[in-house]
Amino acid sequence: MTSPQHITHWIAGRPWTGTAERRGDVYDPATGQVSGQVDLAAADVVDQAVGAALDAFGQWRHASVAKRTSVLFAFRELLNARREDLAAIIVSEHGKVHSDALGEIARGIEVVEYACGIPQLLKGGFTEQASSGIDVYTLRQPLGPVAVISPFNFPAMVPMWFFPLAIAAGNTVVVKPSEKDPSAANFLAALWHEAGLPDGVFNVVHGDKPAVDRLLEHPDIKAVSFVGSTPIARYVYETATRHGKRVQALGGAKNHMLVLPDADLDLAADAAVNAGFGAAGERCMAVSVLVAVDPIGDDLVERIKQRIAGLTVGPGSAPDSQMGPLVTGVHRDKVSSYLDAGVADGAELAVDGRKHPLSAGAADSGFWLGPTLFDQVRPGMSVYDDEIFGPVLSVVRVPSYDDGLALINANPYGNGTALFTNDGGAARRFQHEVEVGMVGINVPIPVPVAYYSFGGWKSSLFGDTHAYGEDGVRFFTRGKAVTQRWLDPSPASRGETPSGGI
Ligand code: NAD
Repeated sequence: MTSPQHITHWIAGRPWTGTAERRGDVYDPATGQVSGQVDLAAADVVDQAVGAALDAFGQWRHASVAKRTSVLFAFRELLNARREDLAAIIVSEHGKVHSDALGEIARGIEVVEYACGIPQLLKGGFTEQASSGIDVYTLRQPLGPVAVISPFNFPAMVPMWFFPLAIAAGNTVVVKPSEKDPSAANFLAALWHEAGLPDGVFNVVHGDKPAVDRLLEHPDIKAVSFVGSTPIARYVYETATRHGKRVQALGGAKNHMLVLPDADLDLAADAAVNAGFGAAGERCMAVSVLVAVDPIGDDLVERIKQRIAGLTVGPGSAPDSQMGPLVTGVHRDKVSSYLDAGVADGAELAVDGRKHPLSAGAADSGFWLGPTLFDQVRPGMSVYDDEIFGPVLSVVRVPSYDDGLALINANPYGNGTALFTNDGGAARRFQHEVEVGMVGINVPIPVPVAYYSFGGWKSSLFGDTHAYGEDGVRFFTRGKAVTQRWLDPSPASRGETPSGGI
């Protein structure tokens, strides 16, 4: 057994050299062993990071768009070249399978590529002769140091929803990653350094509540982008706005997939299994509720059960694994507890994930829980009401499309949803009527591409702007409108010799 690796903050272009008062354990979820110990920042360390970001802002805000773009392109090239190294880090601390880790990096790179177009994105408007001799035009300018606070489930992609655009627009950044899988952020920091980003433009502080609280109240932090669970998102939104900051706080989810009787049931079953159990259900866009419109429930449940039986659960690093472990033992136990709760509430445990076989290479000590399917679930049961954030899929049966729609719209979350049907009219109605921010039509995980924006409704997002895309550019800049008048050139400025009397 190797000794745990020490993981520390990245401030002003280099690893922090101080001594932390507190540290947290980081696990390899596939073995259950402690693989690292991460420094947990106290307020004074956060202040050092914000101080570095503020110093760097003085220069970076004046860097030409051409210079900023060239650094972004270099960062993009390095990310592409080192994606395997980053994927290995993600697998070792998060537990997801290797192809999933590469997938999250690819989605992050998309945002970097979008941010490479910052010269176009920052262009303002210009109106000549708005009034006699008067022109009006707009500028978009950076805010200052901004904070990105991210969850454990996408340690590379979620920070990359924000910092490429923040940096491209001329801001400087302090990232506070999840303390459960902190190393990906440090890897990204080193890549920025290599790409030529000036020291202090990108900083990482590790930590938990005290670090977050200091960022939320720090007078030099101008904006906060947060992603995590709904109670913390609400707290972050309320606290940081109270301190005068611009905030976007993305919260939890309970994503419903509605399957109409005319749908292709094989396609729907494949989608439900991929979207329900991919990344062990630890995705904010995971499908956790499958809503089957009568009479297809029995048939659909049967097809899903068959597919679950064929899923290979094992270490994320093994090429044949389709689902890895959960992130920590504590989280695995919490998710597991819902299996008993669901049964106690009267749901039918159609597939018990505790009995799913592990692949040959899996260590018993890993944080395992196999794919679980509940049937006959209803609102009011905790498996329906709570965001479980694990490999637990609930089937709710409804008599009609309208009942399915009403169920989805009554749910407090509104992150993602999907409709499976072959009826274009039903699809049009659904996209119009459903109260959810991201909608898939025969697509189970409708994460928008980088040039649109990502965000849910209701308790899934607090704030006005979504992540990345045009919303991201707006969030990380503030607009300025200039109204100008210049007198017509005088004869002197035209270089003519004044003639006559004066
Ligand atoms: P979490 O809310 O526990 O933690 C998120 C961040 O907040 C972490 O950096 C953590 O250190 C910090 N934090 C935790 N408790 C805090 C407290 N009391 N005060 C201040 N800061 C605190 O979330 P998680 O378990 O890391 O991630 C899973 C959650 O994130 C799920 O609810 C999931 O739906 C959500 N999520 C949402 C989206 C989205 O786009 N809406 C995307 C990914 C994940």
